[in-house]
Amino acid sequence: MFEYAPAPESRSIVDIAPSYGLFIDGEFVPPASSGGVFKTVNPATEEVLAEVSTAGPEDVDRAVAAARRAFGPWSALPGAERAKYLFRIARILQERSRELAVLESLDNGKPIRESRDVDLPLAAAHFFYYAGWADKLKYAGFGDDPRPLGVAAQVIPWNFPMLMLAWKIAPALATGNTVVLKPAETTPLSALFFADVCRQADLPPGVVNIVTGAGETGRTLVEHPGVDKVAFTGSTEVGRQIARSVAGTRKRLTLELGGKAANIVFDDAPIDQAVEGIVNGIFFNQGHVCCAGSRLLIQESAYDEVIEALKRRMATLRVGDPLDKNTDIGAINSAEQLERIRTLSDIGAEEGAERWSPPCELPAQGFWFAPTIFTGVTQAHRIAREEIFGPVLSVLTFRTPAEAIEKANNTPYGLSAGIWTEKGSQILAVADKLRAGVVWANTFNKFDPTSPFGGYKESGYGREGGRHGLEAYLA
Ligand code: NAP
Ligand code: MG
Repeated sequence: MFEYAPAPESRSIVDIAPSYGLFIDGEFVPPASSGGVFKTVNPATEEVLAEVSTAGPEDVDRAVAAARRAFGPWSALPGAERAKYLFRIARILQERSRELAVLESLDNGKPIRESRDVDLPLAAAHFFYYAGWADKLKYAGFGDDPRPLGVAAQVIPWNFPMLMLAWKIAPALATGNTVVLKPAETTPLSALFFADVCRQADLPPGVVNIVTGAGETGRTLVEHPGVDKVAFTGSTEVGRQIARSVAGTRKRLTLELGGKAANIVFDDAPIDQAVEGIVNGIFFNQGHVCCAGSRLLIQESAYDEVIEALKRRMATLRVGDPLDKNTDIGAINSAEQLERIRTLSDIGAEEGAERWSPPCELPAQGFWFAPTIFTGVTQAHRIAREEIFGPVLSVLTFRTPAEAIEKANNTPYGLSAGIWTEKGSQILAVADKLRAGVVWANTFNKFDPTSPFGGYKESGYGREGGRHGLEAYLA
């Protein structure tokens, strides 16, 4: 057996402060009063990385007020001037991408290979892309005098902390809005690092404010009367609460929620390529991906061949130290998430599906879950219906394209889907009938700032990315 020597990325490249304040009006400030502090840990070791402040109502109030003051001058700048700041931020993100990639892997648990090659390049690309739009808004198809909305409250999850921040902040600033952003409780560090990037870019104070804290801070922020726009990425459950709280106000809302994507493999698909796509679809980022291909639909005639090749490939996946450049699967982001994955997987086995994982040794410390597939899954099983948000794949079968489409659409979600076949006509015919915001053909989990992303049904509404992504921030 071929052995890899350890190839750890050095963590000394990034400085983590012992404690962080809130970033309000261009300064790091302590929380006003009752807020208090919480700790963020490295999920691969459970080591405490830093103490972070909880923003209470007074702090959120200050942040929204700072964003409001900054809005007038910021929105009055010519688009070409705003673009300069965005270009500058994009370049700083590129220059500091090694630091940021290490920080992201430490705080989140994702493999350095992904934070270095996916999260960070895409985050910078988002700023470059929207910088390009800032002086061309008149030509974006939203009227000849599109106006910004005002102060945007943005709440993001822990699975792609830096990338979700970029998806939210870049279009908001390009269109002339100002921002108060709340990162997730378990992954606040890259957003706090970004605050420093804003200062380095000489961004005017108050244009970007970062308030850290748990769900309560998020709730206080989205319910704040001084906010004109709410942009949320997270679970469908919290999305529902936010939709209720925003209803009847004049706030505009976009929601990017959960998913349970079907990845459909026809019997004429190039099997090796499809297997790579299946692995990428569900094991990328430990399966903490809203658009993960978590339901594999295989045409019966290719079932044995696909499963055999998939198991062979899974046996080569390397689970372990996120900072090791050879690691494919890192740590589960939190003890709570690990518990959820375990619970749903146990339910899968209890309900009669057959569970399989390759032999793999998990570290003793930290939060880990072996890559897992369930075969013999039916549509009634909870693991076929509920989002697991972990490295767990549910496998179903179909005979005809019509059956594949019906099964794929048989979900309350509608975020993404994948199709694997040699026939272009089959791709077009099937894609047309799938109720999913993004459909990938003979690939999976491909992202580009020029391409809109968003859901149908319980996966939310509104689009991020591309020209479409501007609309959510324009009146
Ligand atoms: P979550 O619990 O909904 O949390 C998302 C964010 O909202 C976090 O910052 C959270 O704070 C905050 N929050 C919690 N309760 C809130 C409330 N009542 N009001 C306002 N904000 C509140 O989701 P998660 O478990 O962290 O993330 C996983 C989910 O996000 C999955 O369902 C996944 O599919 C979805 N997701 C969707 C997309 C997409 O683009 N569609 C992308 C990534 C993830 P805390 O950190 O304290 O919980
Ligand atoms: Mg953490």
